[in-house]
Amino acid sequence: KTSGKGRCEVFQPSHHADHLDRERLQADLYQALERQELVLHYQPIVDLAPRRISGYEALVRWEHPTRGMVPPVQFITLAEDSGLIVPIGRWILREATRQAAAWQQPDGRGPRMSVNVSVRQFQHPDLVDDVTEALRASGLAPDRLTLEITESLFAEDTAGTTQKLEALKALGIRLALDDFGTGYSSLSYLRRFPIDVLKIDKSFVHGIATCSEDRAVIGAIVALGQILDLVLVAEGIETADELAALEQLGVQYGQGYHLGRPGPPQHASPAAERRRSGSPGAALRPAPAP
Ligand code: C2E
Ligand code: MG
Ligand code: MG
Repeated sequence: KTSGKGRCEVFQPSHHADHLDRERLQADLYQALERQELVLHYQPIVDLAPRRISGYEALVRWEHPTRGMVPPVQFITLAEDSGLIVPIGRWILREATRQAAAWQQPDGRGPRMSVNVSVRQFQHPDLVDDVTEALRASGLAPDRLTLEITESLFAEDTAGTTQKLEALKALGIRLALDDFGTGYSSLSYLRRFPIDVLKIDKSFVHGIATCSEDRAVIGAIVALGQILDLVLVAEGIETADELAALEQLGVQYGQGYHLGRPGPPQHASPAAERRRSGSPGAALRPAPAP
C-alpha cells in the first residue's frame, strides 16, 4: 500500500525483513528518549562575505546501543508515523535553545540557532507552547531562534497553517523554508506566509559549478529573495567552486561540508571554532552575529 493505490507487488523476503527491521527500530525509538540516546550535532551557517559563523543548525542523531549512529533519515519518518516526533521534537527544541543560550556572550550577542520542525510536529496543538516553553526555560532571546519548516506544510489546511505561523512569528522568532525548490511548487505562499529565510536545496547547489540551468534557478531565487526581502542560505556547499559561484550570484549565507561539518557541541562551539581559526587552512572567522 505504501507504494501507491491500485498497485500489486510480488512478495519478496527482503521486503518482509525491511518491515521487521522497521518494527524493531520503532520499538527501540520508544525508549531512546528516556535512555538519552538522542544527541544533537550542530553545523555552522556562515555569513559568506566576512566568512563569519552567523549561527548553527541543530541536527539530531540517535546513538543506538547496537546499531551505532543512526541518521535522521532512518528514524524521523518512524517518529512521525508513531507520533513520537512530538516528545522528540520537544526535547530537540529544549536542548538546542539551551545550547544556543550557553553560547551567547555576556553582551547578548551570539550565534543564532536553527531547529528543524517536521510536519506532524508542526501540526500538533502543543507546538507554540513548546517553543514558548523552550525559550523561557533557556532564556534565549527569541530573535536568536529560527524554525525550519518545509514546503509540504503548505499542501493542506492553509487557514490553520497561516494562523500557527503567525502565532510563532508573534513570539519574535524567525521562520525558514528548508529544501526550497524541491517541494510544492506554488510561489504564492511566499507572500501569504510570514517566511524570513529561504534555504536553497543542495540539489541546485551541486549543479551550480557545472550546470547552467541550476545556476539560472539559483539566480532566479536570488532575485525573488531581493523582491520579497528574504534572507537566502545555500545548503550543501561541498567545494570552493560551488562557494565562489554562489557568492558571485549574490547568495549571502551558506552551509555545507566545505564550510563546516555537523559535529557534537564541544566540536561546534564558538570557542572551538575560534581555536581552529588560528590553525592553517581555516575557512572561517568565528564571531558573534549582529
Ligand atoms: P536538512 O534540514 O535539510 O539538513 C541538512 C542535511 O544536509 C543534514 O543531514 C546535513 O548533515 C546534510 N549536509 C550538510 N552539509 C552537507 C553537504 O555539504 N553535502 C551533503 N551531501 N549533505 C550535507 P542530516 O543531519 O542527515 O539530516 C537530514 C534531514 O533530516 C534534515 O535535512 C532534516 O530534514 C531531518 N532532520 C535532521 N535533524 C532533525 C531534527 O532535529 N528534527 C527534525 N524534525 N528533522 C531533522
Ligand atoms: Mg534543515
Ligand atoms: Mg535542507
